[in-house]
Amino acid sequence: ASAAADSPPTPGKGVENVVIIGSGPAGYTAAIYAARANLKPLVFEGYQMGGVPGGQLMTTTEVENFPGFPDGITGPDLMDRMRRQAERWGAELFQEDVEFVDVKNSPFTVKSSERKVKCHSLIFATGATAKRLKLPREDEFWSRGISACAICDGASPLFKGQVLAVVGGGDTATEEALYLTKYARHVHLLVRKDQLRASRAMQDRVFNNPNVTVHFNTETVDVVSNIKGQMSGILIRKVDSGEESVLEAKGLFYGIGHSPNSQLLEGQVELDNAGYVLVKDGSAETSVEGVFAAGDVQDHEWRQAVTAAGSGCVAALSVERYLASNN
Ligand code: FAD
Repeated sequence: ASAAADSPPTPGKGVENVVIIGSGPAGYTAAIYAARANLKPLVFEGYQMGGVPGGQLMTTTEVENFPGFPDGITGPDLMDRMRRQAERWGAELFQEDVEFVDVKNSPFTVKSSERKVKCHSLIFATGATAKRLKLPREDEFWSRGISACAICDGASPLFKGQVLAVVGGGDTATEEALYLTKYARHVHLLVRKDQLRASRAMQDRVFNNPNVTVHFNTETVDVVSNIKGQMSGILIRKVDSGEESVLEAKGLFYGIGHSPNSQLLEGQVELDNAGYVLVKDGSAETSVEGVFAAGDVQDHEWRQAVTAAGSGCVAALSVERYLASNN
């Protein structure tokens, strides 16, 4: 932050029209629309994910449900295309994390480690992070047996027709478990507590589904593999007795929630109890005029690439309208 404090307000000389924070589908889509509207957007792509821009889809292989790719496309390829499309229309991209924003004073201030810029409007598209269990072999099996998105991965050949497990006891976990019954041979729901936290309706659906077995008082300890190195089961432990056993399963889905990356806006823009940015119904408008939010940082429900892209479009069009009405 100290370097940024002394640095010139690059790259524009004065106040930028719009700064976009985030390089997932929401950020790049907003950048494409804003650039095409001649707003010359600056995009801070972030550096958190090992220095790679592109957001969550950089951590996955095949994306089968993004329209326009009938044969699927890899996450990194899709994000590279979005990035190039934003650049082609003139968006200026910085592979830097934003460390500070001030939206209490207008024009707004955005600071990264390298630069400080002032802007009339801001699109916040910093995404969310799926909570992880931090199992000993989690990194080894991430996307090769462990997933945090049933809708994204449930139909993949890796999981289709297999016995699968979901960990968690809330609405996310129960929804994931029920969704997976469309493709799986059987689904185990691993719940650490002695009851579900999910809504009564979701609980009824789970208990009435013969393809879901609920294991209460059960901790997920690790995944286990066969001699080919493929995931073959889950090491579980009974909370009360401490007894350990291996549950046969070819996939483990995390349903323990997501954390929105909204820390920069804390105390400045209204957030909900879980930290998601609150937007006015169906729009991208936050509680501060000129600040817009798009993608997973404001969406605890759908969390898909196409919905993130859609809301990025809404945010950019809203910025265009906002700037026009304030000129
Ligand atoms: P993200 O993709 O989360 O991007 C946020 C960006 O903001 C990142 O680039 C991050 O570096 C940046 N950022 C954060 N903080 C800062 C900061 N301080 N400064 C600068 N930059 C910052 N969806 C589908 O539709 N289909 C799928 O098949 C699919 N598969 C998935 C597989 C996996 C393993 C995961 C984790 C998710 C998958 N999803 C899928 C969900 C999809 O990836 C997300 O819904 C989507 O990426 C959300 O887009 P976003 O733009 O809101 O945020």
